[in-house]
Amino acid sequence: MQHRPEPPTTEIPVAGTEPVVVIVGCGFGGLAAVKQLAGRFRVIVVDKNIYTTFQPLLYQVATAGLDPSDVAYSARAIVAKYGARFRRGEVIGIDPDAQIVSLDDSSQIGYDYLIVAAGASAAFYGVAGAAEHTRGLYTRREAIKLRDELTGGLEQLALAGPHARFVMTIVGGNATGVEMAGSLADLRNTALRTSYPEVDATQVEIRLVEQQQHLLMPFDPGLRDYAAAQLTARGVDVRLHTAIKEVGPGSILLDSGERLHSDLTVWAAGVRAAEPAGKWGLEQGKAGRLVVEPDLRARGPERIFAVGDVAIGADDPLPQLAQPALQMGRHAAAQIRRLAEGEPTVPFSYHDKGIMATIGRSSAVVQLAGRLRFRGLIAWLAWVALHLVTLLGNRNRISALINLSWRYVSWNHGGGLIVGDQVVPPSKQLQADDSAQAHGAGVL
Ligand SMILES: Cc1cc2nc3c(=O)[nH]c(=O)nc-3n(C[C@H](O)[C@H](O)[C@H](O)COP(=O)(O)OP(=O)(O)OC[C@H]3O[C@@H](n4cnc5c(N)ncnc54)[C@H](O)[C@@H]3O)c2cc1C
Repeated sequence: MQHRPEPPTTEIPVAGTEPVVVIVGCGFGGLAAVKQLAGRFRVIVVDKNIYTTFQPLLYQVATAGLDPSDVAYSARAIVAKYGARFRRGEVIGIDPDAQIVSLDDSSQIGYDYLIVAAGASAAFYGVAGAAEHTRGLYTRREAIKLRDELTGGLEQLALAGPHARFVMTIVGGNATGVEMAGSLADLRNTALRTSYPEVDATQVEIRLVEQQQHLLMPFDPGLRDYAAAQLTARGVDVRLHTAIKEVGPGSILLDSGERLHSDLTVWAAGVRAAEPAGKWGLEQGKAGRLVVEPDLRARGPERIFAVGDVAIGADDPLPQLAQPALQMGRHAAAQIRRLAEGEPTVPFSYHDKGIMATIGRSSAVVQLAGRLRFRGLIAWLAWVALHLVTLLGNRNRISALINLSWRYVSWNHGGGLIVGDQVVPPSKQLQADDSAQAHGAGVL
C-alpha cells in the first residue's frame, strides 16, 4: 500500500501550517510563480544552480561582451525577497503518490502542490558527434566555456602567422544562432584589431548553417530576408537549406557529403525538455516536454503543474520563450490558489506580445502581435532597452548597460574584450594530441 504523508514531510523546516508548494527551477517560469504564491503558501524553490540565469544574453557572455555575473542573479536572494525558501539541489525523482521530490543528495521534500519549471536542454536530433564535439549556449557554464575556447583560438591565431585560419560554425539559424553569428561578426570586424593586432579579420571565418530555407522561421519573410542580408553584409557565410550529418572534433560533415573544417562548432539548433524530465514518470510529448492539460496540470497527477520550456500543451505547443514561461508560471500559481480555496481550475490562454531578435550592432528585427513590424536601429534600441529592463537586479542592469555600451561604442578605439581565460578549442586539441603522438611524447 502506498503511503501518502499528511501533511507532507519536508526536510527543510518551514514554519507555518499553510500548504507547501515546491517549485523545481528558478528560471522565468519558476520565479513568476513564486511572486504569486509567497505569503499564502510555504514555498520552496529548488534549483541545481545557486543562481538564476538570464539566457537571452548568454551569447554576449560567450562573445566576451558581458561578464558572466551580469546575466546571473543569486537564487537565494531573489527567492527570499518574495518570502520563500531556496534549496540548492538537482531533482532526480518525483513520486506523485507520496507527493515527494527526491534530490541528488538523497534528501526528499514533500509537497502539497508541485510546479515543474525545469527549462530545456540542447536537442541533437541524432546528429552523430554533436553532443561530444559542439559547444552549447544554454547555461552560464557553457557560455563561459565557449568564450574561453574562442579566446584560446584567437590566442593561437595570434602566434600562428598570417596564413592560419580560425573557423567557427554556428548550427541553427533561429534567434540564438543569428544572434551568436552576428555578435561574432561584430567582434571579428571591430574588436579584433585592437584586442588582437597580430590577427587580420580575414583569418577568422564565421559560418551559419540552417537546414530550412530561411533564417528566423517564426518571423515574417521580409524580416527573415533582412536578417540574412545583414549577416552576409557583416561577412558571415550563411548556408541555408544545409543539413549537418555529423560533427567531428575539427570538422562538420554535411548531408551532401561535403566535409568542412570547423575549429569551434556551436550548437543552436533546437531544444528539448530539461535532461532528467524523462525519468520523472510524467507523460512526455514532442522533444521530451511534459504534456499538460489546459489548466497546466501535468497529465495524470492532480497536484503537479508544468510550465515554461519543459511543458507542452496537447493541442497548442507554445514557443520555448520567456513570455510563455512567465505567463504559464503566473497561471499555475493562480490555479494552486484556486485549488487551495476549493475552486475549480481554469484553462490557460497565451497572450502573444510578439518576438524580436538582434543581428548585431544597430540591427535587429521586431515583430509585434498584430501587424506592427520594424527593423534596423530602432528595433535594435528596443531590443537593448527590453533586455536591460528585464534583467534581474539594478546592479546587473547597470553593469550590463556599461558593458554593452562599451562593446558597441568603444570597440573601434581601444575598447577590449572582457577577458576570461584561454582554453584550447576542440580542433586544436586534436592537433596537439596528434603531434604529441607523432613526436613520441608521453613515452619518456
Ligand atoms: C541562448 C538563449 C537565448 C535566448 N533568447 C531568448 C530571447 O531573446 N527571448 C526569449 O523570449 N527567450 C529567449 N530564450 C528562451 C528563454 O530563455 C526560455 O524560454 C526561458 O528561460 C524558459 O524559462 P523556464 O522557466 O521554462 O526555464 P529556465 O529559465 O531555463 O529555468 C529552468 C531552471 O531549472 C533549473 N533546473 C533544470 N533541471 C533541474 C533539476 N533537475 N533540478 C533542479 N533544477 C533544475 C535550471 O538550473 C534553471 O535555473 C533564449 C534561450 C537561450 C538558451
